Parts: sequence; C-alpha cells; structure tokens
Amino acid sequence: MDTTFTDAELIAFLDETLGPERSTQLENHLKSDNVLQNRLLVKRSQQAAGLHTIGGIWQRTKASCPSREDLNSFLKETLAPSKADYIRFHLIEIGCRYCQANSTDLLGDATSKKQLNSRRERFFQTSAGYLPLRVEK
Ligand SMILES: [Zn+2]
Repeated sequence: MDTTFTDAELIAFLDETLGPERSTQLENHLKSDNVLQNRLLVKRSQQAAGLHTIGGIWQRTKASCPSREDLNSFLKETLAPSKADYIRFHLIEIGCRYCQANSTDLLGDATSKKQLNSRRERFFQTSAGYLPLRVEK
C-alpha cells in the first residue's frame, strides 16, 4: 500500500474526486499523521484563496464550458471544426464533468434510438482515441 500522498491527490480529496479506496487510506492516515494534516490544511486554504482568482471564478461560472446549443451541435457533428476541436478537448482532456453530464443528457433527448446509438458509438470511438494520451502521464 502506497502511503505517500501527492499534492494532486490531496486536491482531489478536497474536491471529492479521489477514488474511494484512496480516500479511505488518506482518511486513516490523517488521524495520526500531523505532517499530512498540515499539508491538507495548506491545500484547503490555497483553494479557498483561489476562489477569488480568475481561475477560480472561471471554474465556478463555467466560463470555459460550451453552451448547450454548441454541445448539441457538436454531438450532431454539425459544428465548425475549430469549435468542435475545442469542445472535444474540453470534454475529453479537461474531462469537464458538467459538460459530460450535459452531453449524456442531450444524447438522451435524441428522438431516434438508432440515431442515438450511432452517435454514442461515434462519440466514444472519438473519446477512445484520446484515452492513451491521458494514461501515458
Ligand atoms: Zn464544461
């Protein structure tokens, strides 16, 4: 069991995006590890301070998220290539959970089941091509 926690893991823990197994390990360590407690406190205060930075405001207001209309056009593949590239990057590389949920919702709105399936297939085929880029890190 790896008991060293990276800064990225601490941030993920605070964001509640760290996996359940790793979160449990971290919680168990926090009880007895003063250094880890302090590191987590520092990260939390840095995050709180970040709320007033442009990055923090950007994240909270979802200023980088495409509109629902653009997202829908992207899924229908009727969007201009440059805009589509950005949305693909936003969904796959950034992995915006808000937009991923929005996409799933939009795909669910599709009237034709056949259309839906082929769209979903194409979407995930496109996604699959990007996955190795993330794993290599
Ligand atoms: Zn988004």
